[in-house]
Amino acid sequence: MNRTTAEEYALELDQQDPLAGFREQFVIDDPDLIYLDGNSLGRLPARTAAHLASTVQEGWGTQLIRGWNQGWYEMPTRLGSRIADLIGARADEVVVCDSTSVNLFKLAAAALRFQKGRNTLVSDEFNFPTDLYIFQGVIDLLDAGHQLVLARSEDSISIPDKNLLQLITGDTALLALTQVAFKSAFMYDIQEVTAAAHQAGALTLWDLSHSVGAVPLKLNEWDVDLAVGCSYKYLNGGPGAPAFLYVRKDLQEKLVSPIWGWFADREPFAFRLDFSPADDISRFQISTPPILSLAGIEPALDLILEAGVDNLRAKSIQQTEYLIYLAQENLLPLGFELGSPLDPARRGSHVSLRHPEAYRICRALIDPRPGDTTMRVVPDFRAPDNIRLGIAPLYTSYRDIFRALERLKKILEKDIYLSYSKERQAVT
Ligand SMILES: *Cc1c(COP(=O)(O)O)cnc(C)c1O
Repeated sequence: MNRTTAEEYALELDQQDPLAGFREQFVIDDPDLIYLDGNSLGRLPARTAAHLASTVQEGWGTQLIRGWNQGWYEMPTRLGSRIADLIGARADEVVVCDSTSVNLFKLAAAALRFQKGRNTLVSDEFNFPTDLYIFQGVIDLLDAGHQLVLARSEDSISIPDKNLLQLITGDTALLALTQVAFKSAFMYDIQEVTAAAHQAGALTLWDLSHSVGAVPLKLNEWDVDLAVGCSYKYLNGGPGAPAFLYVRKDLQEKLVSPIWGWFADREPFAFRLDFSPADDISRFQISTPPILSLAGIEPALDLILEAGVDNLRAKSIQQTEYLIYLAQENLLPLGFELGSPLDPARRGSHVSLRHPEAYRICRALIDPRPGDTTMRVVPDFRAPDNIRLGIAPLYTSYRDIFRALERLKKILEKDIYLSYSKERQAVT
């Protein structure tokens, strides 16, 4: 079928989509809500509510403290071993605990202390602010003269290889990057960059928050040292669900977490007075796992593993290509600019459209005036001028994309955004 800007083409693509059935596995109770924000907070899988209810009722309610010996104690490492399957790691190299920020803190501090005599931490200006703040805080706390250096972009869409590689030297302790940039969706080739870092003797720490569940990952094959990632975005684990961390097996005994909580001890229930770290991935845990929050991750992982990340990636590429095609045909002539790489091999699973009035256009998408339309489109606004449209291939349909872009076109053509305030809300 020839590509066209007509709705029939979107419907045809949905019909041919081998993953289309997964949409029914999610709670989608408002047919007029087009959700393009699964890269900030994934949708609720239909089976999660019952799973959480039974964790509360039968687990907490009936089992009480005995629940710890009926699976709770191992939950961080057991869920870790399932995430390991998703990211190409060994089962004993991943644990689910704490938040992405806290995990970054633990691993960055451990890596800098291990790499004595090397003084730079290399990152880039696309990194998520919490990542950069955590690195600045670790450097401040260690007070050992480390410096954070950032690779720069020239077009605010991508980081040229040479701009990054020239910063990696014999003085680099750690290269810490987010694989898929949260604004532009620019995507690094982890294998290539990791190899360059290793050649200079640096360790690598990859933040996979915008990759996991959408992009195939092979951490072992790519020889990655350290990684962290988020479970509430493409993994659909629920708001604030715990994050994961990965430490390559041979590094586990060499690195020391800066936070010596009792769950990092080799025998938490021996209650000894002196800390003695576990010799496995558990040494990077801190404290009692949040069972109710962890429970939300389980049913969500079933869905991702069943769909298969390679299949999800294939659909995601087809959908972002379709979105970019529609934008080129209908939106660029109205003053939008494409804020993401054109090459799908260099792009994650979202597309950014830039417009000087992006904020007010987003408000008009999210909150239409009575009588205008009943259709709401939920994207993300990312300052200063990005409208970020997230594709979650488990449940985003081609028709969602079609309808969202039609709505954007109308908001521009009819100047609908002009009646919205420029005042920013707290969470955009
Ligand atoms: C979402 C995200 C985070 C979130 O960190 P929290 O500790 O969960 O608030 C961190 N880094 C990146 C790159 C992200 O995309």
